Amino acid sequence: MLCATCIVTVPRSFTKEERKRLYNKFEPYFVKEFSRYVTWEHVICFPFPPDSDILHTAIQEIYNRELYYHLISKTYYTKKELETVSFFQMGVRNPLELEGVDASRYNTQYTGGCPNCGRGKHLIGNLFIDRKFIRKYRIGMLEPNYFVSEDIRQLIEEAGLTGVSFEQEVRDYKGRELPQPFYVMNIHHTLPPLSPSTWLEDTKKRQMVSSCGHGTIYLRSDLQYEREKLEGAMDFNLTAEILNNDQIPALVVSAKTRKVFREHKVGWALYTPVLLTDGVVGTNPYLNPPPGLG
Ligand SMILES: [Zn+2]
Repeated sequence: MLCATCIVTVPRSFTKEERKRLYNKFEPYFVKEFSRYVTWEHVICFPFPPDSDILHTAIQEIYNRELYYHLISKTYYTKKELETVSFFQMGVRNPLELEGVDASRYNTQYTGGCPNCGRGKHLIGNLFIDRKFIRKYRIGMLEPNYFVSEDIRQLIEEAGLTGVSFEQEVRDYKGRELPQPFYVMNIHHTLPPLSPSTWLEDTKKRQMVSSCGHGTIYLRSDLQYEREKLEGAMDFNLTAEILNNDQIPALVVSAKTRKVFREHKVGWALYTPVLLTDGVVGTNPYLNPPPGLG
């Protein structure tokens, strides 16, 4: 397992030559396992060894040019190391993109939630959509819920995966038949809060909040938990936090779930290892951010 800290900035005031010069200057110090993240033509993203002098040199150089930047902690696992990971953050797409329309447009009922941004609302009864929005993905999200197709539900039940039930259906608002039945995933277990070592950037610290006072918490590293906090975890879990621009907690699944889904080619899904630590290891640079960070 190898870590790198990526410095990311959008140097709008830089000419192409200046970007190239920066790239040439720092390229010899990049952590090579992370080369697929390197960009310099529009967004600059350079991966350095964590807490290294060269990282701080690059930060200083960017800061001296009055650029805002952010830092992302990335982890690289070998195939063998991946086999020992117990939990993964599972990223799924929005196969039910309602093209800017909320499901309440189709008479789906919700309760609670912020009247301004919708955060925290809960589905009542079935989820209604126009069936034309059922696309090829068999698992996905329609905020604030995740849902699966009938065949994935069967896969979950046959494999005995825990922590999810399927009381609510996805239905066409005119009662027409769907290509196959779809169900809302009722995920029962919410994990304890993330470890304070997780890199979380709270936009409230920069007074970037919507009128309702809800800000955004950006995830700038893998999810991190102290090992004992995940002892009661199921095969399907939700994070306590709502991250990035989502209106739904992140999905954390067991290694068993990943294995079953991969064997049955459940796509599209992205599995990012959750980092389990013994005690709180490391610090979150966004807790007391230095000038220019954010
Ligand atoms: Zn709000």
